[in-house]
This record gives sequence, C-alpha cells and structure tokens, in this order.
Amino acid sequence: MDFEFTEEQTLLRESVRTMLNRIATPQYVKRCDTEPYYPEELYQAFIEMGLLRMPFPESVGGLGGGVIDFMIIAEELGRKSYDFLGAYGTCVFNGLNILKNGTEAQRAYWLPRLLDGTIRMSISMTEPGAGSDAGAIRTSARRDGDGWVINGQKVFSTGAGAKNNVINLYVRTQPTGPHQDSLSLFLVDNTTPGITLRKLDTLGRRALGTYEVFLDDVRVPADRLVGEENKGWAYMLSGLQLERLMTAAGYVGAAEAAVDLALNYAKERKQFGQPIGTFQAIAHMLADMRTDVEASRLLTWRAAWQLSRGENALMAISQAKLFGSEAYARIANQGMQIMGGYGYMMEFDMQRHYRDARVTTVTAGTSQMQRNLIAGLLGLKTK
Ligand SMILES: Cc1cc2nc3c(=O)[nH]c(=O)nc-3n(C[C@H](O)[C@H](O)[C@H](O)COP(=O)(O)OP(=O)(O)OC[C@H]3O[C@@H](n4cnc5c(N)ncnc54)[C@H](O)[C@@H]3O)c2cc1C
Repeated sequence: MDFEFTEEQTLLRESVRTMLNRIATPQYVKRCDTEPYYPEELYQAFIEMGLLRMPFPESVGGLGGGVIDFMIIAEELGRKSYDFLGAYGTCVFNGLNILKNGTEAQRAYWLPRLLDGTIRMSISMTEPGAGSDAGAIRTSARRDGDGWVINGQKVFSTGAGAKNNVINLYVRTQPTGPHQDSLSLFLVDNTTPGITLRKLDTLGRRALGTYEVFLDDVRVPADRLVGEENKGWAYMLSGLQLERLMTAAGYVGAAEAAVDLALNYAKERKQFGQPIGTFQAIAHMLADMRTDVEASRLLTWRAAWQLSRGENALMAISQAKLFGSEAYARIANQGMQIMGGYGYMMEFDMQRHYRDARVTTVTAGTSQMQRNLIAGLLGLKTK
C-alpha cells in the first residue's frame, strides 16, 4: 500500500496551489460569489498552465495525465471554491466523454478546441420533469434533411451561459421506447438560433450561473450527434462516474478549507478568558470535522485508484460522493456553530461554505439516489 504522490503529482499540486493563491484571493472568491462573476482569470490560467490538457492523452493534444492528476487538480480548486472546480471539471469530464464515445472526426474537431480554451462545455440532462429520473427526458431531436431539429426545455444547467460554451445536451431521438435505447447526446453552441437561456437565482454556487435552457426549433448539423444515435444513456452513465468522482474530490478540498477556517477561529476567539477551542465541546467538534475530511479523502482516492486501474469503481465512487457531500454539509454546519454570530455574517467565508455545501447532497445525483445505487449493488431492489 502506497499513500504517497509521485514527484510529478506533488509538483502538480504545488503549482496549482501557487496559481490559486495568486489569483483566487479571498477578495476574488467573494467577488465571484456576490456579483456574481465568472472566474475568467482563473480560466485563462487553466489554459496557460495546460491544466485543461492534463487528463487527456497526447494523441489528442493532452499531457497524458490520468484520473489521479484530475483528482489532484479538483481537490485544489474545490479548496478555494467548488464553483472554480465546476468551471474546470465540467469541461474535462465532458471532453473525456467525447474522447471515449465520440467518432474519430469528433475527437479531432472538438478536443483541440476544448484544450486550447477556444470553447468551454456544460452539461444539460435535467429537465423540469426529469431530475433524479433522468430517463424521463422529454426534450427531443428529430431528423430534418441532413441535420436535426431540437425542441424542449432543460433546467439547472451550470455554466450554460458562459462565453463560447457548447452544451452537451441529452435528448430523446426515439419518441417511444425504453430510455436506455432512446436517448442521444448532441453538442450545441449556446448561441445557436432557437436557444434562450434564463439565469436562475441560487442560494450558493453562484459564480458560474445555473440556467434554464429553452430550445425552440434548434437546428444542428448531423455531425453534432456524438457517437451513435440512441446510445446517449450509456454515454451519460459512463460520463457520470467521472463527474461524481470529481465532485467528491472537490468536496474534500472545500471541506478541508472550512475546517481550517473554523480551527483558526477556535484558536483565536476568546470567551471566558480562554480560546474557545480549549472547550472540549468545540475541540471535539473540530476533531470530528477533521476526521470527516480524512475519511472523505480516503474514499475518494480509493475510488480514483480503482478507476485509474480500469476496475469497476461504481460502488467506490458512489460511496465517495455520498460520504463526501454529507461530510462537507455537516462540516459547514458545524463551522457556523463554532464561529457563533460571526459565521452568520456575509463578511466571513463560512456562510459561503454553508450555502455551497447545502446543494452537494442534491447535485450530481442526490444522496438518496447514491444510496439506492449502493443498495442495488448490494443486491437490494430499492424502487
Ligand atoms: C446548483 C445546481 C446545479 C446543477 N447543475 C446541473 C447541470 O449542470 N446539469 C444538469 O443536467 N443538472 C444539473 N443540476 C440538476 C441536479 O442534478 C438535480 O437537481 C438532481 O439530479 C435532482 O433532481 P431534482 O432537483 O429534480 O430533484 P428530484 O429528482 O425531484 O428529487 C426530489 C427529492 O426526491 C428524492 N428522490 C427522487 N427519486 C427518488 C428515489 N427513487 N428514491 C428515493 N428518493 C428519491 C431526491 O433524492 C430528492 O430528495 C443542478 C442542480 C443544482 C441545484
């Protein structure tokens, strides 16, 4: 058993950390959350440092890194703000999905543009009537000449309105039949005529924006259909594994940052003539919080290790996602308690953790759906 990073991985972590400390200052993080403001400068840094290239093979212009490198970057970005990871990671996992499931021509066209920052990517699965039940997607595409016409509505699409964004859009291409054989994946520019975006107001995760996407007779050429027609469900499932693992790594970083905030506060804040961290009630809370972070990290790294070896990591990824999200939400809540009234003030960062963490048990598959999946793998039917 080896718990150590390689020299290259340690270097990668240090260089991402240094870049983040330079750009993602506390003022910058606050600006992105409150204005809200898309972290453009950070995105430029992803491009300049080659971070977008990191997890892709050299054959498509990547740097030949792997899942572990992706996780290192994810944890570091999450440490500053989960949304910063969203800006980076959504491009990466959608790109890796195209690498795996796209045609040769699609790999050659889309990946260089994604890796050099010409385009970004978001994902739109969720609809008003299709949340946890993603198979209930109703947005549809029908053939029209040598292209397709798309109609319908998506909701909760993170970053859909970003500059030069290409939406990875899951739609029905068979009007009837089981969803496993009826969905397809399309790549649609967010400026295509017929698309209307509406930004939603959210409690947290505000920097990238969460959008409703209305599609009214949106015409796209045939080559926007990724891979094969009606294989979208399988593509979605394969992409979701990496998305969930990435989110779990981001939660580790974010949760650790929240513990650090609470710990520093508990060492400095004095009441009854002593630091509040010396009260056992507070010290034990911090001990539990730190333990939660380490448990989340170990689950995440084990899942990443399994995936990097090409093993079936479905159970491990769901466990890491489930535990990591609930731990982050628990930690942010405890952090608020430790900081007393100051935690509730917008001036301090704990309230952002509290808001951001709250949604982690909902996004990328709710906690209930993760438990359903884990229970299913244990041989239990939970419908
Ligand atoms: C900030 C934010 C960003 C998002 N970003 C994206 C994005 O970029 N792209 C995208 O496609 N989607 C995105 N989503 C959507 C997200 O994935 C969904 O919100 C999530 O899948 C849950 O769907 P829902 O909100 O419709 O809840 P529902 O599915 O209606 O669930 C409501 C409740 O019922 C429970 N429930 C539902 N079914 C079951 C069941 N079978 N067993 C037990 N409990 C069940 C759920 O766990 C939940 O507690 C985002 C959401 C948010 C809030």
